[in-house]
Amino acid sequence: MIEENEKLRSLVLEACRGLAAYGLGSGIGGHVSVRYPNKPFFYMHVFERTFEEMQLEDIILFDFEGKSVSSNRSPSQGIEFHHGIYKQREDVQAIVHSHGFWITAQAAFARPPRIFNNVSTVFYERTAVSPNDDFASISQSLGSDDIAIVIPWHGAITLGSTLGEAVSRHVVFGYTARMDVTLPTSAPTMLVEQCSSLRELVEQAGYFDETWALIRRKAKAAYNVDRVIPLMS
Ligand SMILES: [Zn+2]
Repeated sequence: MIEENEKLRSLVLEACRGLAAYGLGSGIGGHVSVRYPNKPFFYMHVFERTFEEMQLEDIILFDFEGKSVSSNRSPSQGIEFHHGIYKQREDVQAIVHSHGFWITAQAAFARPPRIFNNVSTVFYERTAVSPNDDFASISQSLGSDDIAIVIPWHGAITLGSTLGEAVSRHVVFGYTARMDVTLPTSAPTMLVEQCSSLRELVEQAGYFDETWALIRRKAKAAYNVDRVIPLMS
């Protein structure tokens, strides 16, 4: 039996609450997962909770066939892309999928988001578009450097080398998607040369580390009250 990694479980909980604080998981659905270090397992949460309702007992260990090894509770139906991506891309340590409103609206364009600002350049030429959320579709669409996947008329996925990176990229992807949806087609997008040079600058600046720290602060602030959530029977 594999030993529980309580630190990772708590991080998944924090990530769910942080995403909730940004309004990225107010309905059922969406997933946060993190790879168990050096073993074919990952932590993810159960299906029947929203991100904002999540508690530690809802974070469960799964094997690379998508079966729970620490509980008999069910994950979301569509989790096969998690272990699929972990097997295909060894550099990926964490995955976030949501149906955030702006993310889902942008996905209806069935293309990567247009780039209008500096931090969004991290997605420039690194966003795949997959016709569906089954792993067979994602696997074919996903390049070795991609960090985001748009699933048309559904939502998006972000990847990271840490959980913090996948979550902060998801929050920034939401921001990027909102600009793409709300700015008119006449708005000029960033020049291609500028996208490449700014992408490098943003990555060196530690922006995503600081964004993850901010998300954790927001998660704590949002839950630092005597909040009672009715448990499902
Ligand atoms: Zn979905």
